[in-house]
Amino acid sequence: MNQTELNKYRAVLEAKKADLSAGLRNREDIAIEKTPDALDEVQLAGERELAIRNLDRESSLLRNVRTALARIEDGSYGVCFHCEEDIKPKRLEAVPWAKYCIRCQEAADRHEFEAETGDADELLLNAA
Ligand SMILES: [Zn+2]
Repeated sequence: MNQTELNKYRAVLEAKKADLSAGLRNREDIAIEKTPDALDEVQLAGERELAIRNLDRESSLLRNVRTALARIEDGSYGVCFHCEEDIKPKRLEAVPWAKYCIRCQEAADRHEFEAETGDADELLLNAA
């Protein structure tokens, strides 16, 4: 992958990271907000659950985005975590933080191998 392409993906990833970080910050404010009279406990619980689920999803997305940025820095960006083949540009266009090529992603989705967890991302980040 050439520098121009890397710069393009880096810009997309940085924008996504800023976006997600801002969203997560706002969400935390909402999460700690208390309603004084707790009118509808059930609805509140449901909303909280939904918020937490979104938070989970966005946190792990943010982790993937950070990992992708670290991999741009260390020169391993665009290489599949599992088979170490280049990830197709078309896939990176759609999912710039993709860790796997489409074939391995499908295998991971079918649990054919142990996909990297968020913890592994953190280790990688700390190492970078
Ligand atoms: Zn692969």
